[in-house]
Amino acid sequence: MIPINLNSVYTTNSQGQADIVAAWLQENGLDARVNSNTSLGGLPEMILWSKTESASGAFEVWVPTDSINAAKTMISEWETCQRQATAERMAKGSVDAVCDSCGELNTLPPEKRGAVETCRNCGLYFDVPE
Ligand SMILES: [Zn+2]
Repeated sequence: MIPINLNSVYTTNSQGQADIVAAWLQENGLDARVNSNTSLGGLPEMILWSKTESASGAFEVWVPTDSINAAKTMISEWETCQRQATAERMAKGSVDAVCDSCGELNTLPPEKRGAVETCRNCGLYFDVPE
């Protein structure tokens, strides 16, 4: 039985993102759970709450009430790390190439510009733009 004093501290439309945040909080010793308002067999009262409190994201990370502040601090640290990683990738000038065969977006490091690469989705070759 899940106690009712759980609170949503993070909302996202990506399950992968929600899982990463929950795992990060768990690593730091918090009892974090991922709740989805689209999951079948979820707890009705939690689904109701997530629908009323946040219409934007389908996946939420929940922690006990006494962990809210700790969780929010950890999440802001995590988001800062994510932003730095993104900024570093941008600074290095990674290149986006769309596969001709399947339309998958492949992001490649700058040294791959002008090369022929294998699509991570379909495995066929495509040209990386200069
Ligand atoms: Zn492809």
